[in-house]
Amino acid sequence: MTYEAVIGLEVHAQLQTATKIFCGCSTSFGAPPNANVCPVCLGFPGVLPVLNRAAVDLAIRAALALGCRINDTSIFARKNYFYPDLPKGYQISQYEQPLASEGLVELPGPEGPRRVRITRVHMEEDAGKSLHEGFVDSDRKTYVDYNRAGTPLIEIVSEPDLRSAGDAAAFFEHLRGVLVWLGVNDGNMEEGSLRCDANVSVRPAGTEALGTKAEVKNLNSFRFLQKALEYEIARQIDVLLEGGRVKQETRLFDSATGHTVSMRSKEEAHDYRYFPDPDLPAVVVDAARVEAIRAEMPELPAARRQRFVGSYGLPEYDAGQLTQTRALSDFFESAVGAGAPPKAASNWMMGELARLLKESSRDIADSPVSPGQLASLIALIDNGTISGAIAKGVFEKMMASGRSAGAIVAAEGLTQIDDESQIVAMIAEVLAKNGDAVSGYRAGKTATFGFLVGQVMKAAAGKANPKRVNDLLKRALETT
Ligand SMILES: [Zn+2]
Repeated sequence: MTYEAVIGLEVHAQLQTATKIFCGCSTSFGAPPNANVCPVCLGFPGVLPVLNRAAVDLAIRAALALGCRINDTSIFARKNYFYPDLPKGYQISQYEQPLASEGLVELPGPEGPRRVRITRVHMEEDAGKSLHEGFVDSDRKTYVDYNRAGTPLIEIVSEPDLRSAGDAAAFFEHLRGVLVWLGVNDGNMEEGSLRCDANVSVRPAGTEALGTKAEVKNLNSFRFLQKALEYEIARQIDVLLEGGRVKQETRLFDSATGHTVSMRSKEEAHDYRYFPDPDLPAVVVDAARVEAIRAEMPELPAARRQRFVGSYGLPEYDAGQLTQTRALSDFFESAVGAGAPPKAASNWMMGELARLLKESSRDIADSPVSPGQLASLIALIDNGTISGAIAKGVFEKMMASGRSAGAIVAAEGLTQIDDESQIVAMIAEVLAKNGDAVSGYRAGKTATFGFLVGQVMKAAAGKANPKRVNDLLKRALETT
């Protein structure tokens, strides 16, 4: 019997606000432990939470991009459990009435878009962080840093519409791309601002009923998500093939072994005793607010990709690459706006620019070459001032110095040699020095032609117009 996997994700994304969700403490990462805390986020008795309006706006922005309906009334609830990094003894989350519901994401793929339904997007506060290592008495004690307690999060819950570990990783990556594009989340998975839990079950292929699911918690990279699911799917299939039953439980992924291990079973699962938080009024979002947020949203990656194909005639592949980030696609549009032919701009960006940025560990936003400077370089090639080969060297110098192409070409005398008499003289010299190659060519060894072209280009320090060299060399070999 063959089995298929059924996977749904719960993605936690930190909202990029300056302050926490229910108090004015900073959300900045990397402050000394317990520097960004106050009585509210430390859960002192008698304090009252006040909802951060900017957090709600960002959550709405994300929910709209995921095709969700924004609910006009949503309720904050207390999710009760005891844990040292949760000083109030409960987490403020949304339960029965979330901020947004019923979205849809189209995941681009080689066989057309795959549809993943979004069940809900709700808001909640993050917990603090337990520190189990790094202190002299870490063998006996756990320390707690509450800087993260009260950081605003959205949880995005998908329907179980994913069918493979690879699809799940692609979906998570797609969500990250959209959230970063929107400015909702910084995408920094190492710092924990984006993480995911996966619900996975298996069932005989072609059947409808869902198998018993396991939840794999706290995956903070696409690769870990994929590895954890690959392992977990194989494990569940093995259990069934051996006549056993999959247990409903929560599991953790051990990145060192690549295995998932049981954390707690359903019997041990928390009963969170959710109830509406009496300290917080219902969140009421009217249609005007939703429309105002929608009107301010940037063009989304999928729409921009289509526009790049439609308006600029770019191949699908190029359009996909250039819309990986908003900064990259903005750079491209600026270069085209400055007069660069779209395909040439795309080639330079995906080729030399990407390579040199990677070498210097820089992001497109910090590129020393501006879109306008790239357009000017391409113009120098197109109008014959410099050859393509010389242009690569010029571009490297532009990246290293931030100077313009024109300045580098003028200062270093790199202007292309197009003058017929000059090229003919160089050809004559090369032919005189390479008698063997010349006679070889005339005896039918046409491969020596490329060698001779190379010699002429060398003599011209790469500056001769290659097409002109080709034509004139052919003429010289046929007539002399
Ligand atoms: Zn605080």
